[in-house]
Amino acid sequence: MTRDEIRELAAFKVDDKKGACALSFYFQPDPPQDRSHRREAIVAKDVIKQALKSAAAPGKNGSLHADLDRILDVATNLRGHVRGKAVFACSAQNFWKEYELPPHVGATQIYLQSRFQLKPLAALLGAQPALCVAVVDRQRARIFDLRLDDLRERGAIVHMLSRSASSYGYNGYEAGHAERRVAEEALQQFKAVSERLRTDLEKGIWERLIIGCHDSNWPEFEPHLHPYVKQRLIGRFSADVASVTDEEIRDHSADILNRWRIERAATKASEAVSFAKAHGRGVTGLRRVLQALEAGEVQSLFLGENYSARAVECSHCGHLDAHLISSCVACGHRTHELGDICDAIIPIAIRRDIELVYLKDNDDLDRAGNIAALLRFRSDQNRTGQVAAAS
Ligand SMILES: [Zn+2]
Repeated sequence: MTRDEIRELAAFKVDDKKGACALSFYFQPDPPQDRSHRREAIVAKDVIKQALKSAAAPGKNGSLHADLDRILDVATNLRGHVRGKAVFACSAQNFWKEYELPPHVGATQIYLQSRFQLKPLAALLGAQPALCVAVVDRQRARIFDLRLDDLRERGAIVHMLSRSASSYGYNGYEAGHAERRVAEEALQQFKAVSERLRTDLEKGIWERLIIGCHDSNWPEFEPHLHPYVKQRLIGRFSADVASVTDEEIRDHSADILNRWRIERAATKASEAVSFAKAHGRGVTGLRRVLQALEAGEVQSLFLGENYSARAVECSHCGHLDAHLISSCVACGHRTHELGDICDAIIPIAIRRDIELVYLKDNDDLDRAGNIAALLRFRSDQNRTGQVAAAS
């Protein structure tokens, strides 16, 4: 899934005159240990059948029914599916897109709205770094790129044991020599892999790193990692280069990435809250966050997992206001009420490349009204004051 595809979804709006509906469906697979139960595939079908029932109610149109039938077909084929999935559909406007996602979608749900529901997607994509996964042992290394759920092997480094080392016999004297030789060659291999990781990082090929290796190899390999490569390391899993499957690499990496994101989100949100207290590069509360969004100041946006608030949107200029006023303060035109401001904020964040971070049970954010932002700058202060101190 590319950024342009996400932007296309964020820009989509149904034509009200056609009475059409933007349908968003998310599928959360069972956790690996429960896969034999295939519970989620059953849940998915129930969710859609429920939506079909309400769509059958008077006043709803046929195109929605057709979309739901088609999604029901998709769900029927999700038995045993191990990846997350999203479908965005609006047959009235000839729109149908399916995406495979990492298995952390949240919940299996369907949304029928005037825009596509992008919250689960935004939560998933929020802090999605360009990830490098290197699976390493003493002779082999395989290097992968992982973008969302797309795992691609970028290269391999194979250290051929020199013939003299591999063909040493079993007699005592030569065996000891062979062992030293093998250790020396493993050292060369680990150095070669580290060097490759360093140059790829410098070329901007990846931003964060995950290593897969035998636990016994890690103490040998780790000291060879360059300090700034190591800074980018977000976790390690136990794996055998020869036998590890793509599926296992994806599963381990998704878990590591998820843990890292949760920790990083908490740190950054606390930063935003404390910067806001110091009148620095942070703001809290819906009113201030909306102002900062409009001023183009926002770098990262933090939302409580279940954050929702009513607000108004100007039908003419798009101004968003936390006060439920009937005419726009910016242009004077009429406003309309939004049941949930997030439906307007998320597409803005996606269009402007603002990092969107959802947090669960974060006390700092909770006390700050469950919405906060880290700012690139503050337009109401000059660069010499607290802004500089905060950055
Ligand atoms: Zn306006």
